[in-house]
Amino acid sequence: MRESFLDRAARTLPPAPRLRRTADAQSAKAGRVRGTRAQRARAAIVAAVWLALLTVSDAQDRSMNSLAEQYVRLVLAVGQHDADYVDAYYGPSEWRTEAEAQKLPLAEIASRAATLAGEIAAAATAPDADEMSRLRHQYLSRQLEALRARVSMLMGTKLTFDQESKALYDASSPTHTEADFAGVLSQLDSRLPGKGSLIDRYDAFRSRYVIPRERLDAVFKAAIDACRRRTLQHITLPPGESFSVEYVTGKSWSGYNWYQGNYRSLIQVNTDLPIYVDRAIDLACHEGYPGHHVYNVLLEKNMLRDRGWVEFSVYALFSPQSLIAEGTANYGIEVAFPRADRVEFERRVLFPAAGLKPENAARYYEVLALVDKLSYSGNEAARRYLDGRIDARAAADWMEKYGLYSRPRAEQRVRFVDQYRSYVINYNLGRDMVAAYIESRGRDRWAEFARLISSPRLPSSLIHARN
Ligand SMILES: [Zn+2]
Repeated sequence: MRESFLDRAARTLPPAPRLRRTADAQSAKAGRVRGTRAQRARAAIVAAVWLALLTVSDAQDRSMNSLAEQYVRLVLAVGQHDADYVDAYYGPSEWRTEAEAQKLPLAEIASRAATLAGEIAAAATAPDADEMSRLRHQYLSRQLEALRARVSMLMGTKLTFDQESKALYDASSPTHTEADFAGVLSQLDSRLPGKGSLIDRYDAFRSRYVIPRERLDAVFKAAIDACRRRTLQHITLPPGESFSVEYVTGKSWSGYNWYQGNYRSLIQVNTDLPIYVDRAIDLACHEGYPGHHVYNVLLEKNMLRDRGWVEFSVYALFSPQSLIAEGTANYGIEVAFPRADRVEFERRVLFPAAGLKPENAARYYEVLALVDKLSYSGNEAARRYLDGRIDARAAADWMEKYGLYSRPRAEQRVRFVDQYRSYVINYNLGRDMVAAYIESRGRDRWAEFARLISSPRLPSSLIHARN
């Protein structure tokens, strides 16, 4: 059996710095932490790993850690064939170096993954195991199943949109027809008077709410600041967490969080298309607080460092984890900024920062709330397109007509679907599943939200938990 991450850590890491339980650790010598910030940060990681070592007490955990290490190595191996697959990795750097050097063929990855699935099934948790251990086992097993599906796709297996989303994200999006969007489109029709088609009138309406390029950074900073303050009132984050923002072009997405490990994120904002004022809070919450940045920070803190669960040192993009990540990031927007609160904040702070008329904020958000009801039209266009029933141009037409995407945005979205395929369901279906789960569990949305992003829950378990 391969040595586990923790075994290796025990052998290769320098002695642990002062720990409360130092006396229990035979080989740990208490030492003073001095030196540069980087050394201190490393010392903190060493301390965390040692603490995890001391807490990993039973054989079951050790066996799961060894299986989890094999999973991480397989994710890194798939990353050699699929550039989008490994979204974040902050485990031992030699595992990545080894994956790069080995470049295992897909067939070999598939065969090792099948063996590992059997081993994980055989390592079922004891009936009296605590909830977190049970969730860990189910989660690892399902994440691996998604890896096997992705490998099979890379080897040429064709799945329908729904088969694919079920295999990769543990969920499938409801089907809609044109008629499902007619009611909302007719409400918008009367809300946006004037000449021309509805999409032209909506485009014209929205063009009055673009953040000028030179004000973009100031508006984003104000939004990030507010999202962070609100989040910190409810969720404790480890000291030193931070992120930086970069403005980029030529991407199929509008924003992206690249989690770097060590409680840091790089957030990229795509400026290819005009950025409307609502994107400030949306992106700041979704990519930052309480969205992806907070989610990743808490996974690193609670799962990897505190418990030593090494599978959380890697994030495979095409996996059930993404439905939880995107769903909580989108639902987090309304947790941090409930509707009335948000309009008030936009009116008072962001509209003036963007040089827009504050008195228009309420109307703008009323129209956007209606347009948001069309969001599943994007899933439908992607389903028809990926299932080969319509071509790229017709998919963009569909998004334009039933989702009110401007033409350039519809074309950008089709490029996104080409690259990420059924991943699109994670945003709206993910948000709705997370919302229904959290709202069925009590009134303290922040507490439930924090609990959800601090535990390894599968999308399908959100539904079962509600029934
Ligand atoms: Zn996201």
